[in-house]
Amino acid sequence: MSKSEQLFAEARQYIPGGVNSPVRAFRAVGGTPLFIRRAEGAYLYDADDKRYIDYVQSWGPMVLGHAHPEVIEAVIETAQSGLSFGAPTELETELAEELCRLWPNMDLVRFVNSGTEATMSAIRLARGYTGRDKIVKFEGCYHGHSDSLLVKAGSGALTMGVPSSPGVPASLADHTITLSYNDAEGVRACFEQIGDQIACIIVEPVAGNMNCVPPVPGFLETLREVCDQHGALLIVDEVMTGFRVSLTGAQGHYGIEADITTLGKVIGGGMPVGAFGGKREIMEKIAPLGPVYQAGTLSGNPVAMVAGLETLRLIQEAGLYEKLTEKTDRLVEGILAAAADAGIPMTANKAGSMFGFFFTDDAKVTNYQQVMACNSERFNRFFHGMLEQGVYLAPASYEAAFMSTAHSDADIEETIAAARKVLGQLG
Ligand code: PMP
Repeated sequence: MSKSEQLFAEARQYIPGGVNSPVRAFRAVGGTPLFIRRAEGAYLYDADDKRYIDYVQSWGPMVLGHAHPEVIEAVIETAQSGLSFGAPTELETELAEELCRLWPNMDLVRFVNSGTEATMSAIRLARGYTGRDKIVKFEGCYHGHSDSLLVKAGSGALTMGVPSSPGVPASLADHTITLSYNDAEGVRACFEQIGDQIACIIVEPVAGNMNCVPPVPGFLETLREVCDQHGALLIVDEVMTGFRVSLTGAQGHYGIEADITTLGKVIGGGMPVGAFGGKREIMEKIAPLGPVYQAGTLSGNPVAMVAGLETLRLIQEAGLYEKLTEKTDRLVEGILAAAADAGIPMTANKAGSMFGFFFTDDAKVTNYQQVMACNSERFNRFFHGMLEQGVYLAPASYEAAFMSTAHSDADIEETIAAARKVLGQLG
């Protein structure tokens, strides 16, 4: 029995399913989750001290790789002055100033503790600002687990959403409209019918929760246009793409501007931080300035703020994003070539240093239906084969993968060689 198997058995006695977030349980791929003891740069080490090249990177935020010495040093130094005050600190202003300087349309920003809180608060703000209840989201996009967002498309998607979890009131789900990602016409049709009831659109500008699906040309532009025409707000959820797809996220990369931007994980250097920010006139509706309530005892935590500040300082090094993209391209091309040589139908998507592989005959994957039609059984065998070779991919075929600055050329070569071996045996 491996140490992870032993630890998983113990964890299940006290924690539902043995995990504190469902995807960690390896349900989709089968087997036992790795229990991680430590991580450094591109590597994870499990409880048996086996090393893995990590392409999950804590689901995105570790752009610099794990445990960057300068980030860790700043965290330790700050922690020595106290862990939480529930009162303002200078560090919050410093990080807020940095975000407002870098992001378009961000005049004011409020810190929270997770991506879920960021999107939940952004939706409340959009509803409070517009005085409207309905929101539009897209199939296959994930924005955290708040009630309004745990909703899938109903039979009449235009008028009715269906809760995707027990515990979400149908009456609340009614206000969430779920449309097809990358279908600009569907968005136009919806706004033509009920545009005056819609408070906001929330979108992952590159969908990273159905593998990796970038926007087709014109999709994000259409969202901006219909929001402007109908007085709705555009919430661009950059929890995954922020400081990942480019220094200024997907908005910088695709030349689109949100009314409210949500950020997460990365702005805390991997510590529990989220944020939502936007135009002054919108953000001024938040308490204590305005009537829309939002709060948090731990929000703006000093240790998390300094981890974020240090991370943001380091990732602004000249040429860093170009290098990350170049490494990502090399890895993706290498794995696609290995699949082609093995006669396994595969395609890939990428956006900056976010990427994903699809076991499919389709030449290009642009929507949720195509993602769902991929060969997940083949992915599962690929996943376990790679794990055995010492490469850690996300334990589900619906997740994006991430490159970090810590991945060396040798790591990339080792990963491609592992993929070649595993794909050759997939059949
Ligand atoms: N938005 C997006 C785009 C996400 O990918 C996630 C989670 N990965 C969330 C929101 C929710 O963030 P958290 O898990 O920190 O609550």
